Amino acid sequence: MTMTKWVYGFGGGSADGDASMKNLLGGKGANLAEMSSLGLPVPPGFTITTEVCTAYYENGQAYPADLESQVEAALGKVEGIVGKAFGDKSNPLLVSVRSGARASMPGMMDTVLNLGLNDETVEGLAGLSGDRRFAFDSYRRFITMYSNVVLGVGHDAFEEVLDETKDRLGVSQDTELAAADWERVVGRYKQVVLDETGAEFPQDPKAQLWGAVSAVFASWMNDRAKFYRRMHDIPESWGTAVNVQSMVFGNMGDTSATGVAFTRNPSTGEAKLYGEFLINAQGEDVVAGIRTPQALTKAGREEMGETKPSMEEAMPEVFAQFRDTVGRLERHYRDMQDIEFTVEQGRLWMLQTRNGKRTAKSALKIAVELASEGLIDREEAIQRVEPQALDQLLHPTLDPKAPRTVIAKGLPASPGAATGKIVFDSDEAERLGQLGEAVILVREETSPEDIHGMHAARGIVTARGGMTSHAAVVARGMGRPCVSGAGGVHIDDKAGQFTASGQTFKAGQIITIDGSTGDVIEGKVAMIEPELTGDFQTLMAWADAARRLKVRANAETPLDASTARGFGAEGIGLCRTEHMFFDDTRIAAVREMILADDEAGRRAALAKIEPFQKADFVELFKIMAGLPVTIRLLDPPLHEFLPHNEEDVKAVAAATGLDADKLMSRAKALHETNPMLGHRGCRLGVAYPEIYEMQVRAIIEAALEVKAETGEAPLPEIMHPLVAKGQEMKFLRELTDRVAEAVFADRGDRLDYMVGTMIELPRAALRADDLAEYAEFFSFGTNDLTQTTFGISRDDSGRFLQAYLDKGIFEHDPFVRLDPEGVGDLIKIAAERGRKVRPNVKLGICGEHGGDPSSIAFCEGAGLDYVSCSPYRVPIARLAAAQAALSARSGTEREKDR
Ligand code: PEP
Ligand code: MG
Repeated sequence: MTMTKWVYGFGGGSADGDASMKNLLGGKGANLAEMSSLGLPVPPGFTITTEVCTAYYENGQAYPADLESQVEAALGKVEGIVGKAFGDKSNPLLVSVRSGARASMPGMMDTVLNLGLNDETVEGLAGLSGDRRFAFDSYRRFITMYSNVVLGVGHDAFEEVLDETKDRLGVSQDTELAAADWERVVGRYKQVVLDETGAEFPQDPKAQLWGAVSAVFASWMNDRAKFYRRMHDIPESWGTAVNVQSMVFGNMGDTSATGVAFTRNPSTGEAKLYGEFLINAQGEDVVAGIRTPQALTKAGREEMGETKPSMEEAMPEVFAQFRDTVGRLERHYRDMQDIEFTVEQGRLWMLQTRNGKRTAKSALKIAVELASEGLIDREEAIQRVEPQALDQLLHPTLDPKAPRTVIAKGLPASPGAATGKIVFDSDEAERLGQLGEAVILVREETSPEDIHGMHAARGIVTARGGMTSHAAVVARGMGRPCVSGAGGVHIDDKAGQFTASGQTFKAGQIITIDGSTGDVIEGKVAMIEPELTGDFQTLMAWADAARRLKVRANAETPLDASTARGFGAEGIGLCRTEHMFFDDTRIAAVREMILADDEAGRRAALAKIEPFQKADFVELFKIMAGLPVTIRLLDPPLHEFLPHNEEDVKAVAAATGLDADKLMSRAKALHETNPMLGHRGCRLGVAYPEIYEMQVRAIIEAALEVKAETGEAPLPEIMHPLVAKGQEMKFLRELTDRVAEAVFADRGDRLDYMVGTMIELPRAALRADDLAEYAEFFSFGTNDLTQTTFGISRDDSGRFLQAYLDKGIFEHDPFVRLDPEGVGDLIKIAAERGRKVRPNVKLGICGEHGGDPSSIAFCEGAGLDYVSCSPYRVPIARLAAAQAALSARSGTEREKDR
């Protein structure tokens, strides 16, 4: 039987692992191994694998039996390389113990430094270093950190002792304490530990080591780490590795230092070494912000207007070695590196390197420049930029340097930032908007009747509702920043105010929202405007050349449509015609149509709506200039268009001359218990064909008019929603063709159009072959398809989904990321069965998933023809589609190689 290798050593110019072993060794461990093998100065150590973490949690927090002996052996090797012994009185080896997961989780988990110090080894360290003050300073740091991380003793008790000591001595700086002072502080710290824990501070270095290792594994499950994982989609099952590494000291006097560096600027991408360091300090001092760090380079110092010397000036020789080393690392990893280092008495040590986190702007610049430098090719440059991050560039964003006071948090429903006056009512929002005022619409939730208010507002906040709630979907479509489901916002409509974080905010007061984080912020915050030229254009052009999937937009207004084209949309994948019904100037006719007693009455009202619809389509066709435009016929249940309360009813009655009682009773009659599964979608067209007839006529006439005017024929794709059965599709196809032919005959001209269906119901997917007899295209409406596959209401999921996410039953919200198994299977089945009957059936997706990168990757795999998403997600989708195509291609190449 082969033994599992749980421990991987590194140092002394070689290593058991390498950079490719991130899954097993974590990012830090893998890169320490790689740097060792490259011959760089890395303090020797070893990595306990992520598999140990997984095994630890699977076995009731017990370690594998042979772990201890493997750790002993690895520790022995480290002792051999550095010529010191762990726990030795005169020549002690000290180590650091740090976490290191596959994906970096900065600051989320625990670290212990100076481990191995006790009452005896501290004397050894004093002798070795010739600096007693340094030795006891290190010991007290170790006691604080270890007690905090492993024994759960808070910092406060130690701070108190230190403050008291400084007061007594009449000094203000730690640096003013002498060796004997630190020695006394250590004595009192040990008493603190005894008082707080009821046990002596552990003196056995081995016990210290296992305590720290266990604490690191435990920190994988702390609340911070769990929250971070959820935010960044890191599975719990990955586990963390633990790195045990011999200590080097940046706090051994003025020839010692510690610092962090980026090989390029992480916020602008500029190709200049960037970073900070502190002389005579240990790693945590840089992070803790107690002392102000100095710049690494002379240029950096001058840029910051600092006077304290840079590392380049203060330590020119070590700096030269450092600059060479990090340049080598960047070329080796072919990416911008984020580096930690220490200088111990003039000698450079590399403690960490990893691909640096960066802003979207910086990511673009670095990818494009690395490609022009020949370090990576264009395909790799495309893969280097996270599509979602482009979002930062498409909307004005909050200046990250500006201070902010968050008063409530909700879902990041539609990205971008906005500042404006609080308004609770959509009419008021519109009125103020027309006066040129910036307003933020704050609602319990929104309904289609709020469209005008949402349009007039700079941003939207709702107290209820999820990522696919009305507010979220519509706001994303409009490119309005939106925070939905901000449960901490308690609205009192009558009083014209809301409370949040214990404060009251009245209508007219200024707030700011960040739709990319879900923050609702008091007052105004400084913003930065987007810039879509240069590196952005270059990378997008490369992406367009690499992708197979077409990218369209969900748009119904001319503004949305032209925004979408500006962002590179190749057509409209979903025009929701009901949004055109809600317009103020049309709603009266729409209500008249709904209230009509018979077909004749409905037709009369529809005749009033028809010219508006036609005019809308004319505009859309012109903007799209021959690109396909998918127009979906009326979808929502009719009662959504009716006034709901008595006040509204009276207003409508007055405006239309209709009878108020009749209006009210009709509204009641139309009420449905479960409208999502009720009289909506093509069921409206089946029951009242005259509605769909009007819409088809408006579409075809508009198309012919645009053709006559511009000489270019539009490409209308007429789409029927919520179809379940072949017979339904047959009826709808015949209706559509009949009306179109009548228009052609009437106008003496014709053009190509297509008739298709949405696939939003499991039955439609399963019987796609029946539908394909009559449908020339399928567009997967994955909002409804997810809803109907799971049987989870898309509007109510927010209330309980979190429990599913917390318990790991769902890894992701299926309304945000396409469920590749259930919903995905239905899509694959539909594609296959549809193609069997109609091999060239056009396939697309127009649910919210059409703008989600991982869902786009699924669509690439399923062989769809296009994805359609809200205008502001078009660039994200273009990049994600390119990445999906490249991954699919390299996957096939790997297959071929086998
Ligand atoms: C869908 O169901 O995915 C869809 C695009 O239609 P809607 O969101 O309008 O129901
Ligand atoms: Mg739908």
